[in-house]
Amino acid sequence: MSDPSCIFCKIVAGQIPSERVYEDAQAVAFLDIHPIAPGHTLLVPKAHFANLLETPQEVLAALVAAAPRVAGAVMRATGAEGFNFFQFNGACSGQEIMHLHFHIIPRRPGDGVSYQWRQGAYREGEMRALGAKVRQAME
Ligand code: ZN
Repeated sequence: MSDPSCIFCKIVAGQIPSERVYEDAQAVAFLDIHPIAPGHTLLVPKAHFANLLETPQEVLAALVAAAPRVAGAVMRATGAEGFNFFQFNGACSGQEIMHLHFHIIPRRPGDGVSYQWRQGAYREGEMRALGAKVRQAME
C-alpha cells in the first residue's frame, strides 16, 4: 500500500533520504526538512493513507501510541518544555503532502512560533444548531 508519486512513501521506503528518528511496524518518524522549530518531526504511517478519515483505526492507534515516545525524545533532545501535536486534512486546511502525517513541534517559552489563530464567536443559537447538525451527521 504505497503511492509511487508520494514523497512520504518514498521516504518510508528509503528511496529518498531522511533523518529518521523512530520506526516500528506501522510508523516512521523523521525530521521535517523545513522545520518550524529545530526538532520539528513528522510521524507518518508506513502505508499510504491520504488523511485521518482514510486511515484504519488500528493504524491510527499505532501512530498515536508512538507519538508520546517520539515527542518525549524530541523534547529531551532539544531541551523543549512543550510541543504541538497536530495534522492537516485536505489542501484547504494546509495539507501539502497527501499522506497522513502528524507534526510534532517542540516548543519553549518565547520561541516566537505563532500560528495566528483568529478566534471567532457564534451568534445567538448558532452553536446549538450546529451541534445538533454534527450529532445528526454522526448517524
Ligand atoms: Zn504516501
